[in-house]
Amino acid sequence: MVAEGWGFPLRSQKAHYFTEDGRSLCGKWGFYRGDMEQGNDDSPDNCTACKKALQRRKAKEASEKLKQEGKIKSDTLKFIEAES
Ligand SMILES: [Zn+2]
Repeated sequence: MVAEGWGFPLRSQKAHYFTEDGRSLCGKWGFYRGDMEQGNDDSPDNCTACKKALQRRKAKEASEKLKQEGKIKSDTLKFIEAES
């Protein structure tokens, strides 16, 4: 069982991406507590809105990680400058 992932709600023609609070990223579905799976992000069965929202989220996470790494780098630079 995963905390979040793609799920297939009853009455839905598409798989939606559900997060920990049981809501789909596209906002059309809530309180989903069925089976979820990770991966298969590009499946044609996936809801397009959920797919886009997931891509945006991943891009945001990646840029945040880069920002954090950049911050560490500039702090180190400051430290080196202070030393010399
Ligand atoms: Zn969706």
